[in-house]
Amino acid sequence: PGDQAEPDPTKKTLVILGTGWGAVSLLKKLDTENYNVVVVSPRNYFLFTPLLPSCTTGTIEHRSIMEPVRNFLRHKKASVKFYEAEATKIDYEKKVVYVNDDSEVKGATSSTEIHFDMLVVGVGAENATFGIPGVREHSCFLKEVADAQRIRKRIMDCCETATFKDQSPEERKRLLHMVVVGGGPTGVEFAGELQDFFENDLKTWMPEIADEFRVTLVEALPSVLPMFSKQLIDYTEQTFKEETIDIRTKTMVKNVTKEYIEAEYVGADGKKVLEKIPYGLLVWATGNAVRPVVKDLMSQIPAQADARRGLNVNEYLVVKGAENIWAVGDCAVANYAPTAQVAAQEGAFLARLFNQMAKTEEIETELKNLSNAQETATNKDARDQIFGNIKDLQKRLRRVNSMGPFEYSHQGSLAYIGSEKAVADISWLTGNIATGGTVTYFFWRSAYLSMCFSTRNRVLVLMDWIKAKTFGRDVSRE
Ligand code: FAD
Ligand code: NAD
Repeated sequence: PGDQAEPDPTKKTLVILGTGWGAVSLLKKLDTENYNVVVVSPRNYFLFTPLLPSCTTGTIEHRSIMEPVRNFLRHKKASVKFYEAEATKIDYEKKVVYVNDDSEVKGATSSTEIHFDMLVVGVGAENATFGIPGVREHSCFLKEVADAQRIRKRIMDCCETATFKDQSPEERKRLLHMVVVGGGPTGVEFAGELQDFFENDLKTWMPEIADEFRVTLVEALPSVLPMFSKQLIDYTEQTFKEETIDIRTKTMVKNVTKEYIEAEYVGADGKKVLEKIPYGLLVWATGNAVRPVVKDLMSQIPAQADARRGLNVNEYLVVKGAENIWAVGDCAVANYAPTAQVAAQEGAFLARLFNQMAKTEEIETELKNLSNAQETATNKDARDQIFGNIKDLQKRLRRVNSMGPFEYSHQGSLAYIGSEKAVADISWLTGNIATGGTVTYFFWRSAYLSMCFSTRNRVLVLMDWIKAKTFGRDVSRE
């Protein structure tokens, strides 16, 4: 019964890897009656990443931005199988995905294989470290729920340890120095949230750290937020100055140790300087790298020999050189930035494509049956009737087959920069609008609220905002 039902042998098996923006947007719109749908992901929930930086300081509780996949899969027309596992290898010639249960509790079987007729790879990306020594061992990333929880705990641990009896002044200074590496939107939003936490709550609850708590943002390029317009970059840098967040641009981190980073910049005399910057908390936000399972698939396909940043896909999101495999989101390279907006539109496109492919197959089978019937029909009226039906079906087939390639429609970029200010580059009917400030902040809040996965998420996020405003953020170290 239900989930354990055998796959229907008359339908193709569609395997979807991941439960992120790309995969979930596909699942939302997919007519699951057309395929035996199997979803594999090590995470049995969807995560609304745009609000993840707010979870690092307790402005939002992480469960408010998680939606269990079981919750929405059970509303699909036909049952969908979900396996909480990680795809470790895709054999595209054998049409098999090898999966592994990576969770704490393992049964007698914890690795197996799944056959597919069609495969969608939506596994996202992992954190880039560029091979810089010490990054994995000593810094916190900001991609998953566990990362946000780790950061939240570490902020409080640093504050409490800094105020430990007889702590030396240097050690206090180090522990209260929060360093963020990477001036992309992840780094900027986190730095803004952290400074808010300090200004609104920490300062009041722990006045003894008020003079020493510092946030520094380190960026290798000449400016932060390179995808935003110059005006908004200037606005962000000015706001950070007012918030007393130190921005160190043109500074490249080369090495990370347990207590300091080594960063290189060009000094006033034109010579390179390697500076040691002590830290208590280090958050590493330098963008994306390709996951091993994707790298391995790329290495199996000759047409992917030149691919670097992910799977090269064509305009229908088919992985080049591999029929029956599609890729969406951060693991696919289709000349768009690796954003939720792109992943969601790609997922929705694939849902339409697969729904249409199923309809095409259905009409083609019907056409075949009708032409057989026409050949065997003895009576002229019956033959004419069938001929009319064939014409109608052919017309329908042409209509169904008219779906064009994927086209991305950019709705704009939005980022929170702290002290109740946000920046937005929005495409509007009249052109582009670049705006920053408090009004933009309310726009940011309402836009993100409306984009939340479900009404349940929306209500929880709203309640978290009210709770944080009324009682302050919770500083318990847990
Ligand atoms: P993901 O959403 O990362 O999902 C990947 C899925 O694959 C996950 O479910 C994962 O568990 C699963 N998976 C991983 N490995 C395997 C495996 N081996 N086998 C099977 N499944 C696997 N973008 C915006 O447009 N706007 C924003 O405001 C924004 N804010 C962001 C804030 C933060 C802190 C971060 C980190 C990113 C933000 N992004 C934003 C970017 C956005 O989150 C990504 O571009 C988006 O998540 C990509 O979607 P995806 O489906 O490709 O990957
Ligand atoms: P990113 O790639 O946008 O930025 C990483 C930054 O780190 C770059 O500016 C790079 O120059 C810098 N960097 C790399 N190595 C460095 C080093 N050794 N020392 C110092 N600086 C270094 O990464 P991200 O911010 O994690 O964003 C990833 C993707 O997710 C992007 O496509 C982004 O648009 C998207 N995103 C969007 C939002 C939003 O729209 N609000 C929020 C978060 C993420």
